[in-house]
Amino acid sequence: PLLINQLAAGEVVTRPAAVVKELLENAIDAGATSIEVYITQGGMAMIEVIDNGAGIHPDDMVMAITRHATSKVADVANLQGIRTLGFRGEALAATAAVSRLTLISSHNDSGVGRQLQVAGVLDDVPKLTPVVHHRGTTVTVKDLYFNVPARRGNLKSIATEFSHIETVAREVALARADVAITLFHDNKKRLSLSTNIAEGGYDSSYNHMNCLPLSRLEQATGLLLRDNALQITVDLSSLTQPLTGDIDHKGISKQAGVDGWVWPIRRGESPQEVLPKLLYVNGRLVKEPIISNQLRQLTQSADLMNMGYALYFDLPAQWLNLNVHPSKQRIKISSLNNIMAHLSHAIQTKLKTTET
Ligand code: ADP
Ligand code: MG
Repeated sequence: PLLINQLAAGEVVTRPAAVVKELLENAIDAGATSIEVYITQGGMAMIEVIDNGAGIHPDDMVMAITRHATSKVADVANLQGIRTLGFRGEALAATAAVSRLTLISSHNDSGVGRQLQVAGVLDDVPKLTPVVHHRGTTVTVKDLYFNVPARRGNLKSIATEFSHIETVAREVALARADVAITLFHDNKKRLSLSTNIAEGGYDSSYNHMNCLPLSRLEQATGLLLRDNALQITVDLSSLTQPLTGDIDHKGISKQAGVDGWVWPIRRGESPQEVLPKLLYVNGRLVKEPIISNQLRQLTQSADLMNMGYALYFDLPAQWLNLNVHPSKQRIKISSLNNIMAHLSHAIQTKLKTTET
């Protein structure tokens, strides 16, 4: 089991930031509204993620760190319709195989939780000890790769590893404005994003949208984005019709759509150095070359110098196949051509009506 776990671990746990990403996704899947992340030495000494989510029942603690144990997918067929961020049941087991991992969780308001510790090999069923803990989960990962010297040797500098972690935290912060996130590195606060979005009054439209308010976008990217932002809203509910009569269409969200912002840089305007180019599908940051290529073509045909975007797709889970790559960043979307036709039309219309 050691070898299998460590090989598998390499796929998931490629560097400290990969651990942070998985732990953040678990916290969000558990419904956390507040997440604290403590990092020491670029994550090589310690990664700790504390959430206020639903917690884990004592009976499920050992399962949580066991390979291919996930509470999120009932059967493989279900993989087509996933809405949670995790579903492979691999992350905690893989991390535990290559670190000293402590899992503490409480699933109620008793103030008491259970603690479990693993370091590398799982030769015995780990013991649970009662500890004081609020409702939610704390995962502490120490000495990453302590038992895989080759991997440890591959790690870059503390600064580089931490910058990857910071990127991951910002990406999650960009996905979910309703979750407060703080990030500390070697006891210094590096990121602190509250859920208090009412700032400056330019976010009054937020309630009607699935996308991020500009204030959170600015906080999370560190860019000034309120100027020149064009708001895009696309209703895709007409596209959900053809699905009726398809296989099991229970649970199809009627609210298919795209919300977000684009930042056009027109000819003659001073080009902003960095522009966000972000695509989120059901709260998951994705790399979808078909979408980004079409947006690039649109930029050219509209005679723009460049165009930034932060677009939030809300699609019926049945349209998605996430199981394309272990990183879960690649995704297959059915009827993407139709979706893109609607989106391009909406962007072009907005560009025309705001032309000066
Ligand atoms: P996956 O997220 O793919 O299910 P993981 O290995 O990341 O697999 O987690 C295994 C299981 O442990 C999850 O399915 C979930 O039930 C539980 N779990 C992990 N982290 C948390 C958390 N922060 N809060 C609540 N439950 C968690
Ligand atoms: Mg997970």
